[in-house]
Amino acid sequence: MAFLQTGGCQCGAIRYEVSAPPVTVYTCHCTECQRQSGSAFAMAAVIPEAHFRVTRGTPKMYARKTSATKTMECWFCPDCGTRLYHRPGGTAYPNRNLKPGTLDDTSWLAPQAHFWTRSAQQWVVIPEGGTCYETQPDTLAWVPAQP
Ligand SMILES: [Zn+2]
Ligand SMILES: [Zn+2]
Repeated sequence: MAFLQTGGCQCGAIRYEVSAPPVTVYTCHCTECQRQSGSAFAMAAVIPEAHFRVTRGTPKMYARKTSATKTMECWFCPDCGTRLYHRPGGTAYPNRNLKPGTLDDTSWLAPQAHFWTRSAQQWVVIPEGGTCYETQPDTLAWVPAQP
């Protein structure tokens, strides 16, 4: 059976479809992700661009400067504000970093990598077997090669 997952924002104005399994799933414990999520960490499911489709509504974009020369495109529902996905701005990045808590079925998600563990909240226990990074690797070498 073909892989097909659906999801959307809290109010339902934005709906989307994912038609391929994530390249990888990771958590990020950086303080920006803590602030953005209002929680202890963020999760991302890296979805190949061609396999992500918005099926209802038009997400809005907020560009966050991540360094002097780089921005992160942060897409969200303009009505309820639910953050949906991120991608590095102005690059040929081939994926969308979906916030997988917005999927209708989250039961299958299992993060493989954990970023910025040095700023993880002290009570957070990183599951055994995950690849941990104190900060974040400079390159995307940690993303498994795509078939
Ligand atoms: Zn919404
Ligand atoms: Zn982060």
